Amino acid sequence: MHEFAIAKNIVTIAEEYARGEGKSRITGVNLEIGAFAGVMLETLNYAMDACAKDTMLEGAEIHIDSIEGTGQCRDCGQVFPLEGPVSPCPACGSFRFDIRTGRELRIRSLIVES
Ligand SMILES: [Zn+2]
Repeated sequence: MHEFAIAKNIVTIAEEYARGEGKSRITGVNLEIGAFAGVMLETLNYAMDACAKDTMLEGAEIHIDSIEGTGQCRDCGQVFPLEGPVSPCPACGSFRFDIRTGRELRIRSLIVES
């Protein structure tokens, strides 16, 4: 389950950040996860709890914002919500588009305590 690898990564990044700021405890983590990031939110939530044990993040509140997928048509420039990775442009029916949002996988903010 790669959610555990992602969670471990997030814990490492968050701890490095807090240490750099001279803080010893992280009480909250806000994450942004895109609809096409390939991450199961429930599994990630569980994995975060498990990976936070015995770290600076133990007991931290994990908040996950899910980002909807949008695409921009390469033929007519229309920006539209994506139902899935293959979804036609509602304006011209083209299947050629660039994914604008939906692949996010990032820490938006951390709440740290000294
Ligand atoms: Zn189009």
